[in-house]
Amino acid sequence: MSHNYVTGFPRIGEQRELKKVLERFWSKETDFTEVEKVASELKVRHWNYQKEAGINFIASNDFSLYDNMLDTAVMLGAIPARFKGLEKEELYFAMARGNKDTVAMEMTKWFNTNYHYIVPELHSSDTYMLNAKKLINEYKEAKAQGITTKINIIGPITFLGLSKRIDRGDTYEFFGKIVPLYAQLITEIAALDEEVTVQIDEPIFVKDIEPKVLSLIKPCYETLCNAADNVNIIVTTYFEHANEATKVLVHTPVWGIGLDFLYGEKNKEVLEIVAKSGKKLIAGVLDGRNIWKNDIEATVSLLEEISQNISKRNLIVSTSCSLLHTPFTLKYEEKMDSEVKNWLSYAVEKLDELNLITKNFFEKTLTEDEKNALEANRSANESRRTSARIHDEAVQARVANITKYERDGVYEERIAIQHEALRYQPLATTTIGSFPQTPEVRKARREFKNGTIDERTYVKEMQHYIDECVAFQEECGLEVLVHGEPERNDMVEYFGEQLEGYGFSQNGWVQSYGSRCVKPPFIYGDISRPKPMTVEWITYAQSRTEKIMKGMLTGPVTILNWSFVRDDLPRSEVSKQIALAIRDEVNDLQQAGIKIIQVDEAAFKEGYPLRSSNIPSYESWAVRDFKIAVSSAHKETQIHTHMCYSEFNDIIRTIEAMDADVISIETARSGNELLRIFAEVGYKKEVGPGVYDIHSPRIPSVEEIIEQIKKLLEVLPKEQLWINPDCGLKTRKWEEVKPSLVNMVKAVQVVRKEL
Ligand code: GLN
Ligand code: ZN
Repeated sequence: MSHNYVTGFPRIGEQRELKKVLERFWSKETDFTEVEKVASELKVRHWNYQKEAGINFIASNDFSLYDNMLDTAVMLGAIPARFKGLEKEELYFAMARGNKDTVAMEMTKWFNTNYHYIVPELHSSDTYMLNAKKLINEYKEAKAQGITTKINIIGPITFLGLSKRIDRGDTYEFFGKIVPLYAQLITEIAALDEEVTVQIDEPIFVKDIEPKVLSLIKPCYETLCNAADNVNIIVTTYFEHANEATKVLVHTPVWGIGLDFLYGEKNKEVLEIVAKSGKKLIAGVLDGRNIWKNDIEATVSLLEEISQNISKRNLIVSTSCSLLHTPFTLKYEEKMDSEVKNWLSYAVEKLDELNLITKNFFEKTLTEDEKNALEANRSANESRRTSARIHDEAVQARVANITKYERDGVYEERIAIQHEALRYQPLATTTIGSFPQTPEVRKARREFKNGTIDERTYVKEMQHYIDECVAFQEECGLEVLVHGEPERNDMVEYFGEQLEGYGFSQNGWVQSYGSRCVKPPFIYGDISRPKPMTVEWITYAQSRTEKIMKGMLTGPVTILNWSFVRDDLPRSEVSKQIALAIRDEVNDLQQAGIKIIQVDEAAFKEGYPLRSSNIPSYESWAVRDFKIAVSSAHKETQIHTHMCYSEFNDIIRTIEAMDADVISIETARSGNELLRIFAEVGYKKEVGPGVYDIHSPRIPSVEEIIEQIKKLLEVLPKEQLWINPDCGLKTRKWEEVKPSLVNMVKAVQVVRKEL
C-alpha cells in the first residue's frame, strides 16, 4: 500500500550547490554541462533521501534550474516575442534574468510565501506548442535510479491565473488554447509506464475564487482525465482551504485530491463529500513551511479525525505543501544550541517524521527503532512545551497588561507641535535609512563576528562610516539625516540577534528566487529586549551633526513576516511581544534626544491572508501592533514609517489607521498615478512618495526629478510632501548614490523657488 507522499522537495542543494554552479555558469567560469551534472546529482540525492525514508510518492519535475512557472511557460511555448532567436539554456536564462539586449520577465511572490516565480507573459498572437522534454526526462532519470515518481505539474488554471496578458484582455481567454496542450501532455505521460501518477498543482483554488474561474474546473479536469486511462491525476492545493474547488472536483474523474489541513483547517468541512466520491485524499498534515519538529501524537490524532470520514484505504499522508519553503537539513547546524536544535526539523528530517507518522497511524505495531524515535519525538515536544527558554512569565504578564495601545494626541495636534520643534520646510528631503554597504563595511562586520577584530576596532570602523555618511548628507544639503545602517546585515536579522527568544541557523537557506536564498531567523520563545539595540549608533550619529538625525527601527509586523515563527502561539500574540520590545526602543531613542524615529514596515503587505474573509483580522492586529510599537512616542517625537511597494488602493484605510506622522512609499516608477488614492480618500498625514527608483543603477537628472516632484504636487499640496528616494540605498554604489541625492536636493531647491 502506498500511504505517504511528499508534495515537492527543495532543489537548491544542502550546500547550495545549484546556486553556486549557476552563478559560476552565469559569470562564464564554467559551462552548461557542469550545471547539468550538478543538477542531476542533486535530483538523484533528493530522490534517494525520500526513498530511504520510506516515502511512497516521490516527486519528479519539482526540480528546476530557475523556477517551475518559467519551466511551465517554456513547456507550453509561451515565449515572449522579445526572446525570439534565442534557444535552449540561453533562452531560458534570458527569460529569467534578461541579457544585454532584453529585459527579464517579471518576478513576483508565490502566494503568501517568500518564494518568487517568473510571471508568464501571454499575447493573443502567440501560438503555443507543447514541449514536454524536461518532465519526461526527469521521470526517466528517476526510473533509471529505480524510483517511480509522480510527476509534478503546475495546473492550467493556476498557470493562466498567475500569468499576465501583454495585450489587453484576460488570461483565462486562452483556456481553450492551453488545455488541449495539457491533454496532449497527459497522453505523452501515459506512454511512459503502465500506470503513472501526476500531481497537478492548483494553488490558485485557495484564493477567493471567481465564478468564472470556478466554472473552468470541471471542463478542464474532465478533459485531462479523459486524455488517458492509465494516468492517475491528483489535484493539489495548499496554503489555505479550497472548498469551492473541491466541491467541483469530486464530480470529475480525478483520482485524488490534495488538501492542506494545517493552513486550511476549513478543508475539514468537505471531508464528507470527498469520502462519498471515493477519491484518494492526500492529506497535508506535516508542515511544509515551518521548521518545527512535528508533534507526531497530535498529527496522528488529526489523521484519526480525518479518517472518521475518509476510509484508511483512501487516505495518503502528506506534507502540507512542497518542502521548498523549508531549509534542507540540520546536519550542518554545528553551532546551534542543542536544546533549540532538538525542537527543529528541516526537509530531510521531515521525511523521517512523515514515515513515522504513517507507520504509527496505519500499522500501530512499531519496531524497536521506531518506538525509540517516537519516544524521542514525544520528549522533544515536551521539552519545547515546558522549556524556560521559551516561556518567560515577565513577557507574558507584560503582554497581558498592556493598557497603552496608542500614542498621546491626535495627528493634527501632534503635527503642529512637531513643526514647531523641527522646523522643516515643505518638500523636506530625507532618505529611507541605509546607505551603500561597502566591501569594507561587510568585511568589518564579518571579522567582528568571527572574532578576528575586537569590539573597539569594529566600533571605530562603523563610526568612521557614519562620519562619512553624515558629512556627505550635510554637504549635499539633505535636511533629515540618517546614520546609514552600516552595522546591519539585514533589517530583521539585526534586531533578531539582539532579542531574547530568537534563534539563528548556519545553513538554514531557503530559496527565494532563482539562485537566491534567504536564511530567515526563527522565533522560538517569548520575545524580550535585554538592552537597547540601536541607541548608541543613532546617538553617535546625532552627535556628529546639528541637523535632525532620524532613528531607524524595523516594525513588529515586518520582523514577524520575515522570520520563521513559533507555532505554539498565534502570530498575533508573537507580534504583540515584538511590539513591546520596539516600544521600549522608541522610548530609549526619544529619551536620548532623537526627534524623528522611522519604524519600517517593509513587509506589512506580505502578511496579508489569501482569503479576503481573513483580512480584517490580520489588519486589525497588524495595525494594533504597529501602534503599540510607537505608543511610547511623545507628541513632539515624529514617527515615520516606510513601505516597499506602491499599490495602496486596497489598504489605504489601514495605512491611515496606523497613524504614522509620515509615510514614505515606493511610487517612483508610476509618476503620480499610485499617489492619487491618498488624495482621493482625503489622507491628511505627510507622505514621502519616492522620487526616483533605487532598484536601477541609473542616475536620475535634476530635470527628471523636478518633473517628478511637479507631478506629485498635482496630487498633494507641498505641505504634505516629503522628498526622498523610494527605498533604502544599501544595494547601490556610492558612485550612484552621491550624484543621485545631489540631484534630488537640487531639484527640490528649484521647485521651492518656483512655488
Ligand atoms: N531602512 C531600511 C533601509 O533603508 C528599509 C529597507 C526596506 O524598505 N526594505 O534599508
Ligand atoms: Zn523599501
